[in-house]
Amino acid sequence: KYYGLNELREMFLTFFESKGHLRLPSFPLVPENDPSLLLINAGMAPMKPWFKGEEEPPRKRVCTCQKCIRTGDIENIGHTARHGTYFEMLGNFSFGDYFKHDAIQWTWEFLTDPKWVGLEADRLYPSVYLEDDEAFNIWRDVVGIPEDRIYRMGKEDNFWEHGSGPCGPCSEVYYDRGEAFGCGSPDCKPGCDCDRYMEVWNNVFTQFDNDGEGHYTELAQKNIDTGMGLERLAVVCQNVNSLFDVDTVMNITNKVSDITGAHYGDSEASDVSLRIITDHIRSATFMICDGVLPSNEGRGYVLRRLLRRAARHGKLLGVNEPFLYQIIDTVIHENEGEYKDLRQKQDYITKVIRTEEENFAKTIDGGMKIFSELLAEHKAKGETQFAGSDAFKLYDTYGFPVDLTEEMVRDEGMTLDRAGFDQEMEAQRVRARKAREALGDLGWSGVEFGKEVPATVFDGYAQTTLTGAKVL
Ligand code: ATP
Ligand code: MG
Ligand code: MG
Ligand code: MG
Repeated sequence: KYYGLNELREMFLTFFESKGHLRLPSFPLVPENDPSLLLINAGMAPMKPWFKGEEEPPRKRVCTCQKCIRTGDIENIGHTARHGTYFEMLGNFSFGDYFKHDAIQWTWEFLTDPKWVGLEADRLYPSVYLEDDEAFNIWRDVVGIPEDRIYRMGKEDNFWEHGSGPCGPCSEVYYDRGEAFGCGSPDCKPGCDCDRYMEVWNNVFTQFDNDGEGHYTELAQKNIDTGMGLERLAVVCQNVNSLFDVDTVMNITNKVSDITGAHYGDSEASDVSLRIITDHIRSATFMICDGVLPSNEGRGYVLRRLLRRAARHGKLLGVNEPFLYQIIDTVIHENEGEYKDLRQKQDYITKVIRTEEENFAKTIDGGMKIFSELLAEHKAKGETQFAGSDAFKLYDTYGFPVDLTEEMVRDEGMTLDRAGFDQEMEAQRVRARKAREALGDLGWSGVEFGKEVPATVFDGYAQTTLTGAKVL
């Protein structure tokens, strides 16, 4: 049966409410009191104090639909069917309450019971951690999955661990979308990196404490932490090709298509650009709504990079005017049911994006021209490495984020001297510090320039906005 993305979110939360969970709204994308993280990247991230037992959760069972940003997936966007830099993660959590038995059974019930999502059980494959016989036995004996359909996987895939502290094995569920989506390799099976067996849900059983030296002890408080990509669930329920073909996301892609004049399906290259723009404008809209502003540091840099990368793909589609800001209304329309503050902040978000686009537009043409010239010089000399000083020039004079330059360099089959670029950046910091010292500017004393941004000043308005973003 077909379900829209918004219906699926509601269905998941209702299901876990019926199992005694307290539904909480998504936490903001900017972490509170967590200097180890730039942006929220999983449902559990804002709940760390509850997992560690440092703070009392509002209930021992909680469920959420959490806004997430994963910039680590940026290179995948538009190329794989399943990755966005922005996505929503559905999750149910237990803080020292129920454990594997209930978690696994509810995962199966939600996915296969016709009262809920009702997916074909034959297409689903669970995986467990190599040594986790307990989870294996629950899948086999309680749920009734034939042994040969349960995959045992190693630490890389199925053991969740982040330095020292609470950690534990995972059990994931893969959905077989059919051969047409496969890589064709005879080794293709659940866990393969291609898009045939799509990972939809991850159950993490935090049952150990790692002392940091590889010694694991059983935790007194055993927890459940699960995460399922809402867009991925929609891909399988709607039986569509990719995350970009899901109802609400497709409406945004269509808008991008209207504005740019590029039609989905015209060519692979323009489809990739359409998807990148769609993805990045979703991320940018939510990040700005949650208080991030474009800058050259920290999360502000993440935002700037996404916006400038999207702008460049607009150029590749032949758009020479600022256009991203025109997509925001559609992004809001598709999401405001759940995220009411988007509409309230629409004017603000639009202004931030438009200003960033206009600033970049002033220099992008000049920068692209210089880039082509520098590239030609390197090529004429038979060099395969693009100089760090050249990347610095593009950054300093034309506002090209170094990752964008690196990407363009790679598209040309060359590499970038990143260390050389970093050296130039450091030299610039030293120059800037000396200049400030010479001016006797005490306002910056105690702040190591370039490491911490005391405030992001956005001069597009009368009001100055402070983000106080700590840069990592
Ligand atoms: P993959 O192996 O496909 O990259 P993952 O193992 O990195 O996924 P987890 O860290 O286990 O993902 O996150 C839990 C769930 O969140 C995944 O099972 C998936 O449904 C969803 N998810 C993870 N990354 C993304 C993404 N970039 N875009 C959309 N959904 C995602
Ligand atoms: Mg991943
Ligand atoms: Mg995975
Ligand atoms: Mg996973």
